[in-house]
Amino acid sequence: MHHTATARDKTTFVAVDRYHRDKWWFKSSLGFYIGYQYFIDAAGIVTQGRVDADVGAHTIGYNDKSLGICLAGNFDVEYPSSVQVVALTRLLKNKSSQYGIPPEKIMPHRAFANKNCYGKNLADDWARHLIASPNNVPALSEISALALSPNGTRKQELLALLEKALQITKQMA
Ligand SMILES: [Zn+2]
Repeated sequence: MHHTATARDKTTFVAVDRYHRDKWWFKSSLGFYIGYQYFIDAAGIVTQGRVDADVGAHTIGYNDKSLGICLAGNFDVEYPSSVQVVALTRLLKNKSSQYGIPPEKIMPHRAFANKNCYGKNLADDWARHLIASPNNVPALSEISALALSPNGTRKQELLALLEKALQITKQMA
């Protein structure tokens, strides 16, 4: 697990992909250069940069035996957005059940390197606790369906759902 260590609401997949291209030029089978398998932006959009079986470029010594997930943000000074946490939770649950990954194997980058990554504001066990979170975390598809409702007719429902996601996030923090 990583953070970009750059401003959460301004950091895009494209920018990180470009940064890693210039740094390493290590192309994934999907044609991207970003070192992570999955990137989650502030809006909770998950973009896959490498297929799970691709070698990553994110954690020295573990790139051929781990999945790299990166959240946009500098969690030394800010926090993940609630929709980002919802998206991460779903991804972690999916991948954990797909590969039988135990929670204790969900680790911050700093467990393997002399870095703060994924940010001082997030405890070492923060991400692994997400997969133990209740299944009532709103699905991102649920949120986007409400957000896209005509003329904001379902705005109240959307706000209620986001509030719920925020409460769950606070409980998990
Ligand atoms: Zn990192």
